[in-house]
Amino acid sequence: MSEVQFLNVHKDFSGMEVLKGINFTVESGQVACLIGPSGSGKSTLLRCVNHLETTSSGTILVGGRMIAYEVHGDRLIEAHQKDINKRRSRMGMVFQSFNLFGHMTALENVMMGPVKLLKVPKAQAEAEARELLAKVGLADRTGHYPAQLSGGQQQRVAIARALSMKPDLMLFDEPTSALDPELVGEVLDVMKALARDGMTMIVVTHEMGFAREVADVVAFMDGGVIVEAGDPTEIISRPQHERTKAFLSKVL
Ligand code: ADP
Ligand code: MG
Repeated sequence: MSEVQFLNVHKDFSGMEVLKGINFTVESGQVACLIGPSGSGKSTLLRCVNHLETTSSGTILVGGRMIAYEVHGDRLIEAHQKDINKRRSRMGMVFQSFNLFGHMTALENVMMGPVKLLKVPKAQAEAEARELLAKVGLADRTGHYPAQLSGGQQQRVAIARALSMKPDLMLFDEPTSALDPELVGEVLDVMKALARDGMTMIVVTHEMGFAREVADVVAFMDGGVIVEAGDPTEIISRPQHERTKAFLSKVL
C-alpha cells in the first residue's frame, strides 16, 4: 500500500513558488531519501506532509487519506483540522536541531507525548519510554537532562520521543547535519535499525552512504522539482541529469 503520495503538489510563499508540481510515492515500509541543494524545497515538502505547512495546490495522501488541501477546479477543500491533528499524531518528525525540552530528563521527554496527548497511564508510558530509550542505546541515560547528553545522544532521545507516539511514518529533516562527524554514525545506526523493523521513512539527508545502503528510493530535488528519482545506486552512481551530477560531485 502507498503510505505517502504526492500528487502535483505546489507551494508558494507570497508569490514565490518553491514546490512546482511534486509527484512522488512512498510505499508502506519503504525508506525514501530526499537529496538536493540548499533551498531546493526539501524541508518544505516534508513539512507539508505533517501539515507544518499547507500546500498551495495539489494533494498529499498519507495512508491513503488526504492530509493536504485538494483542488477541485477553483474550490479548495481543506481536510478537517481534527482529522489533521489525529493523522499528524501518527507521524514522527525529527529535525536537525534536537528540540528536546531542556528542563525534562530523557525519560520525561519520551514519556510526555503519550501521557499528555494519548492519555496513556504514567506507569505504562514510563515503561514504554524506558524500552524505547534502550532501543536507541540510552538505557543508562534515562535520568540525564539534554544538556548532560552529547548531540548524538540528544538526537537519539528525539527519535525515541517521536517513536513514543507509535507513528506509522517517520520524517527526518537532516537529522545528522548539526552533529560532530564522530557522532553521525550512532544516529544513522538507530535509523537503519528502524528501517530494518519496517518503518516507513522519508529522510532528507546529505549522507549518501546512508541513502545508498538504506533507501529504497532516492529523489533528487532542485529548484522545487524532483529532477530524478529511483533506485539509490542508479541515482547516486549513474545520475542521468546534469544538475544531479553537479550536486553529487559536491557531496560525494
Ligand atoms: P531546503 O530544505 O531544500 O534547503 P526549503 O524547503 O527550506 O529548502 O526552502 C525552499 C525555498 O523556500 C527557499 O527559497 C526558502 O528560502 C523558501 N522558504 C522556506 N520556508 C519559507 C517561509 N516560511 N517563508 C518564505 N520562504 C520560505
Ligand atoms: Mg532544509
